[in-house]
Amino acid sequence: MSEPKTLQEAIIFYSDPDNCLRKMVSKRWPNGVVCPTCGSTKASFNAARRTWKCGSHHPRREFSVKIGTIFEDSPIGLDKWLTAMWMISNDKNGISSYEVARGLGVTQKTAWFMMHRIRLALQDENGKMMGGEVEVDETFIGGLARNMHVNKRREKITGTGGKDKTPVLGFVERGGDVRATVIPNRKRNTLHGLVKANVSAGSALYSDALKGYEGLDGEFFHQVVDHAVEYVRGNVHTNTLENFWSLLKRGIKGTYISVEPFHLFRYLDEQSFRYNCREDLDDSGRFEVALSQVVGRRLTWKRLTGKLQDSETRTN
Ligand SMILES: [Zn+2]
Repeated sequence: MSEPKTLQEAIIFYSDPDNCLRKMVSKRWPNGVVCPTCGSTKASFNAARRTWKCGSHHPRREFSVKIGTIFEDSPIGLDKWLTAMWMISNDKNGISSYEVARGLGVTQKTAWFMMHRIRLALQDENGKMMGGEVEVDETFIGGLARNMHVNKRREKITGTGGKDKTPVLGFVERGGDVRATVIPNRKRNTLHGLVKANVSAGSALYSDALKGYEGLDGEFFHQVVDHAVEYVRGNVHTNTLENFWSLLKRGIKGTYISVEPFHLFRYLDEQSFRYNCREDLDDSGRFEVALSQVVGRRLTWKRLTGKLQDSETRTN
């Protein structure tokens, strides 16, 4: 069977552990297998165990393709991991842990933990500064806004928000990627800090008239569109981000029954990933990108979230 193009084909293809292994090896070690401990390229393969043994003498000589990836310390098989990745990287509106659980034949709790681990892999961590024309905008997620009439909602969402809503700040480089993050508040220090951490000085910066953005025109070519007056003035607008917010909110409203503020950042990462991969990529292309990020991840899940790891082990 050739490389899968659809979810159904992916499920069949990755039910074969050798297909999983070949796929992972091609992503992980495109130029040949390398020992993760010493960097040696002289490792012998044990086909029965699907592991390698390093040719140099040191502790931890035996290694699997999962080492150094987000799958490293998981008891779940690659067949389920790769299928889950396919589902998550391709469902436009986001997929619920119930759907993943049904699709993979695991408990909802296990699916939930798998999805959070995959979302970690979808995080944009390259830290590249944005430049050229950059839109910055803030919005509120959650709470009552979801059940409101659209006009009322727009008013609420662009307003100050309520106690039950979580503020989120987004950036988009026009013609490029989007980046979104949960913020503690919309104060000047918070907004200025994030703008300077994400946008190269000297870039064109477009925002609404929120007070917190004032004073950025020393470092940026900052232009403001006052939404009380107008939404677009020539190329001064934040419409690219507004479109992203709509997608994000549709996903949360339609699929995720509720998103706790603590977990919101993972949903933001997932939606940003899909948005940034939207052009020129089909389902299999998005899966390839997601998988490359998984195998390149150095941090293990355990180190990042010791608490979640414990619960996951219990549910398996
Ligand atoms: Zn070695």
